[in-house]
Amino acid sequence: MSHATLIDGKAFAERLRASIATRVAKLKADKGITPGLAVVLVGNNPASEVYVKNKAKQTVEVGMQSFEFRMPETTTEAELLAKVEELNNDPKVHGILVQLPLPKHLHENLIINSINPNKDVDGFHTVNAGRLATGTPTLVPCTPLGCMMLLKDYFGKKNPSNKPLSGLHAVIIGRSNIVGKPIAQLLLKEDCTVTIVHSKTKDIEALVSMGDIVIAAVGQAELVKHHWLKKGAVVIDVGINRIGQPDGKMKLVGDVDFHDCLTTAAAITPVPGGVGPMTIACLLENTLQAASAT
Ligand code: NDP
Repeated sequence: MSHATLIDGKAFAERLRASIATRVAKLKADKGITPGLAVVLVGNNPASEVYVKNKAKQTVEVGMQSFEFRMPETTTEAELLAKVEELNNDPKVHGILVQLPLPKHLHENLIINSINPNKDVDGFHTVNAGRLATGTPTLVPCTPLGCMMLLKDYFGKKNPSNKPLSGLHAVIIGRSNIVGKPIAQLLLKEDCTVTIVHSKTKDIEALVSMGDIVIAAVGQAELVKHHWLKKGAVVIDVGINRIGQPDGKMKLVGDVDFHDCLTTAAAITPVPGGVGPMTIACLLENTLQAASAT
């Protein structure tokens, strides 16, 4: 029985970080610019604490400057806007990331749209979403960018052309602004035929089974089963779900039932070790891009 190839995001992200480190050193030597990434964390969300710590560590490891700002849960919108404005005006800061989710009393859209779009390394600013939708060069959201790098690498080995995904049918499960929609734009740019399905879609399985590429960004543990897939589909699993096990321990799983899909898919990303590690590496790539453009 055939067995899917593992798309190793962890190894790819390591190579990408090494390449970023080389390019950071060159930017310093050529132009005297050290890219700087500022991360603002409001409140005490434990998952966000872990993300922010990892981001800061990896930022420093590639030779960039990391600026971390921790603000209390009670921070007002005016205080947070003032912090963003300060960072917008700081020439040492090339990338600004406000860690989401924010406490409920703060309006995420308002805060994100207060970031200078050229420093918006998360790519969530409305201006950057518009640039992406119109095919204008921009800072692309990190997780979608990471997914595309993995796909282009996989298909590029089979079809070493400029657009190795051209003509493939990609089905995206999920339509969020941070994952599903930007991935759709990026796949269109690569000349894929794109279908987006979501919670109100009728007969999801039939649509997913048309995909040469399936991207799951749903937030539902192990939703996608082998019989949803076309034989030989390439599966990118964005989901990160924590589920309890019989022994009481927690386990990390994706939106795809990984073991169930191994014999149907041609290739698949594991969780953990697939898309997850690409996200931070792409944040660093975006910060380098923002610094290079100054
Ligand atoms: P959202 O909750 O914002 O969006 C989920 C999408 O899935 C929505 O469009 C929703 O439809 C759709 N959906 C929900 N249930 C179903 C269902 N049963 N069938 C079909 N569609 C469904 O999530 P995100 O996009 O932010 O994240 C998706 C997943 O990716 C999560 O597990 C998250 O943890 C993970 N993630 C991982 C990252 C990484 O670095 N690897 C980064 C970001 C996210 P509708 O619009 O109709 O509600």
